[in-house]
Amino acid sequence: MNRYLLKHGRILDPAQGLDMQGDVRISDGRIAAIAPSLTPDGGETVLDCADCWIAPGLVDIHVHLREPGQSHKETLQTGGAAAVAGGFTSVCCMPNTQPPLDSPTLVREILTRAAHESPCRVYVVAALTQGMRGEAPCDYHALQRAGAVACSDDAFPVQSAEVMRRAMAGCAAYGLPVVTHCEDKTLSDGGSMHAGAVSARLGLKGAPASAETVQIARNALLAQQTNCRLHIQHLSTAIGVALVRFFKAQGVPITAEVSPHHLLLTDEACAAFDADAKMNPPLRTETDRAALTQGVLEGVIDCIATDHAPHAPFEKAQPFGAAPFGVVGLETALGCVLHWNSTLPQPLTPLQLVHLMSTAPARLMGLPAGALAIGAPADVTVIDPHLRWRVNPDALHSKSRNTPFKDWELLGKARYTFVGGVRVYTAS
Ligand SMILES: [Zn+2]
Ligand SMILES: [Zn+2]
Repeated sequence: MNRYLLKHGRILDPAQGLDMQGDVRISDGRIAAIAPSLTPDGGETVLDCADCWIAPGLVDIHVHLREPGQSHKETLQTGGAAAVAGGFTSVCCMPNTQPPLDSPTLVREILTRAAHESPCRVYVVAALTQGMRGEAPCDYHALQRAGAVACSDDAFPVQSAEVMRRAMAGCAAYGLPVVTHCEDKTLSDGGSMHAGAVSARLGLKGAPASAETVQIARNALLAQQTNCRLHIQHLSTAIGVALVRFFKAQGVPITAEVSPHHLLLTDEACAAFDADAKMNPPLRTETDRAALTQGVLEGVIDCIATDHAPHAPFEKAQPFGAAPFGVVGLETALGCVLHWNSTLPQPLTPLQLVHLMSTAPARLMGLPAGALAIGAPADVTVIDPHLRWRVNPDALHSKSRNTPFKDWELLGKARYTFVGGVRVYTAS
């Protein structure tokens, strides 16, 4: 096993409120020591981390790895490579694969394969209903025993309130969080972008904000009724932020995530009919974007998650209305978040940023990650927070190229990523 000494870094561990200059020793796959100064012992690789952050590996709880069934978009291997290149050491993969991950056998199969094929740790969010058809709850106890950390129908949200109530009561019985993409399909009705002035100008069918907010309210009320842990995915609306704030104040066990693209982009990004700006929920207005930023600053929004949703170039090359929803995000998330933060009048501290992208999401999903504990497996990301770099889609490790940040100049990038003490990524 390789041994490393990370020298002269800014060590950030939100789990213990640690922010100090110093060195970190990685040995036998674990974090062996953290101190202001450690002496190299001769047998270890010394990496100069001056002007860099040494942080717990980043955690992305919303990723589509596309296996089984859609390996032309992404695989456990390529998705894992994209993750570690983005500084992520743990990801949660979504169940809307072909077939959907609605059985213990499928959950175990992904976990077993990922352990061999992915350089990043992979956790499974299993389906919430059988076949993700929104009709019948799954066997949650069996899914949990197989290793599922939560349940979700993500892109195929349960439309029946009564089915949702039963599913949430079922998950609550085993302490499984229910993770929801909030969309009333009768309101979104096949809209391909946000319904507003821009969609009217472009002549594209839109999905209104209410398609999201109606289901956030419904799911929060059902969480209150069933005492189920509810996590709202990719919050995109100002009213949605207000609803999460309201229900948190009522003591409802609700948390929420926001994606980097919703923090940085608005529906104006759709103006060139570029399908790489098409995702679900859609990019919304500047009012919404500003409210999401405020939600993060206030702590109403708990964490950042990418909703990394790779699609092949030929799929995204279709006309805007016909192209599939989704963008890749693993390799641009960190650069987007630090860039976004640099635009704020009162930016978040490095410790707060690492909390949003590592410690908080790990806690939400109950993952053994998000901390730099002595003796714990060395999942560590060394981040250069000052590096300005340009996004080149052809240089992505993902199998897909569908980024809305093509040619953007972002701020901050992973330099080294370690998973279990193994250096799985080194920036070129
Ligand atoms: Zn979704
Ligand atoms: Zn998703």
